[in-house]
Amino acid sequence: MQKISILGGGFGGIAAAIRMRAHGNEVTLFERLDTLGGRAQVFERGGYTHDAGPTVITAPILFYELFALLGENLEDHLEFRALDPWYQFYFSYDKTIFDYGPNQETMLAQIKSLSPKDVDGYLKMLKASQKIFELGYEKLASQPFGKLMTMVKYAPDIIRLRGYRSVYSFVSSYIRHPNLRQAFSIQPLLVGGNPFSTSSIYSLIHALEQKWGIYFCMGGTGKLVNELEKLMKRHDINIQYKHDADQIHVKNSKVTEISFKNGEQHSVDKLICNADPVQVSSELLGQEKISLHNTFIKKFAKHSMGLFVIFFGSKIKYKNIAHHTIWMGPRYKELLKDIFDDHKLAEDFSIYLHRPTCTDPSFAPSNADSFYALIPVPNLKGGHQWDEIKEEFTAKVMQALDNTILPNIIEQSENIFSMTPVDFKTNYRTPHGSGFSIAPLLSQSAWFRTHNQDDLYKNLFYVGAGTHPGAGLPGVINSAKVVERIIYP
Ligand SMILES: Cc1cc2nc3c(=O)[nH]c(=O)nc-3n(C[C@H](O)[C@H](O)[C@H](O)COP(=O)(O)OP(=O)(O)OC[C@H]3O[C@@H](n4cnc5c(N)ncnc54)[C@H](O)[C@@H]3O)c2cc1C
Repeated sequence: MQKISILGGGFGGIAAAIRMRAHGNEVTLFERLDTLGGRAQVFERGGYTHDAGPTVITAPILFYELFALLGENLEDHLEFRALDPWYQFYFSYDKTIFDYGPNQETMLAQIKSLSPKDVDGYLKMLKASQKIFELGYEKLASQPFGKLMTMVKYAPDIIRLRGYRSVYSFVSSYIRHPNLRQAFSIQPLLVGGNPFSTSSIYSLIHALEQKWGIYFCMGGTGKLVNELEKLMKRHDINIQYKHDADQIHVKNSKVTEISFKNGEQHSVDKLICNADPVQVSSELLGQEKISLHNTFIKKFAKHSMGLFVIFFGSKIKYKNIAHHTIWMGPRYKELLKDIFDDHKLAEDFSIYLHRPTCTDPSFAPSNADSFYALIPVPNLKGGHQWDEIKEEFTAKVMQALDNTILPNIIEQSENIFSMTPVDFKTNYRTPHGSGFSIAPLLSQSAWFRTHNQDDLYKNLFYVGAGTHPGAGLPGVINSAKVVERIIYP
């Protein structure tokens, strides 16, 4: 039995704590906030409940595994409800709708009515993304990438699958209709990447969704966090809330101690960091030597986009709105260039709209709806004064929704508030206020990402969005599997 400390209680830290406890270790998790979940916070305003972060559950098997590792069954505590459609796309420029979901016949019929030639193209694309899934997910997602040789070993496979292409270029090689090209290429945005520069390896997300489906956790992601927290406590994982680490101390190439802002110090045998690796290099290890690899990432890594999230309730129900709606604005490639490359806040935008009350009425008073509208925006490298512009930006987004899919929402909405990239930086300690840590470029994936085991301090490990395999719940939960494979080869 070893004494293992986890720093940060996001999904990466939670999964690491459970995996380490399952090996019989004495596990303590330190979290700076008074709740677990990291980005998966829950806000309550005027009778409306909002999950602040992740809402789309893919690869539910990963959560079943966490319960099973401690000898329990997820279904005794949680219900994952299958969604249909998974996402409804609304193209604001031509007012058309495309339902992306589990029923292939319905989807093929819609593709046929838009562009008959794309039916065959879609089926070929699905096969190709399944091949990518076999490599990218089944072989690489839980594979440690600390050694360059591992990257060299898999490079021929990545080249054979043309991983150097972007997701958009992959999709466009099979599909012609512009709306369908958008619908099938947006997945990188869910993990912080621009579809025009993210490696086509991330097209595996399409196959992953097709394989396991998309679910909503009844009670919300907050309920999922609560049940994982209870699971941890039932199995004697020690959770220390309000422990904000300000320094990691090292001696003789080993991490020895963490000190916290409340004045406490804790000695550590092994430390698994769920705090963002760039934060660890810049601040927590700021007075210590940092590996060349992490110094390079700290200085040169490209971070994901920022997110502007508007939370609101509506006094009436919008019964025709799906659980997840993707509202596409007039521009795609150019808008993404503004956001990712030029850090420019454009006049137009696209929106992801979450309506949990579609599946779970407990999120709002009866006959009312709870919503969040998430808009990809430049991260703080854009230098925008979010406190000054947030009201105007909120009004613009609400007007766009009012003009299109949520008529009269301006009159019917209440308890509106928002989160800007500044809040992401302050609340989640995210470098540049980015939504998803460093971007999932090929040059920032696998070996090129922060290694799950530190190059200098061999008892220091990393889990979470900034390390391999990357952001999104499946990514960060798999990062804990990677650390487990390193500690227990
Ligand atoms: C708005 C939004 C919507 C999303 N939607 C989805 C979705 O639908 N599906 C999906 O799969 N993914 C989604 N994602 C992505 C997913 O939520 C994240 O990739 C994932 O939750 C990140 O988990 P993590 O463990 O890396 O870190 P985090 O959630 O960032 O947790 C890190 C934890 O470390 C703690 N910490 C940091 N510094 C310190 C310190 N110095 N001392 C102590 N503790 C510290 C933080 O307080 C935090 O609790 C979404 C993300 C956002 C922001």
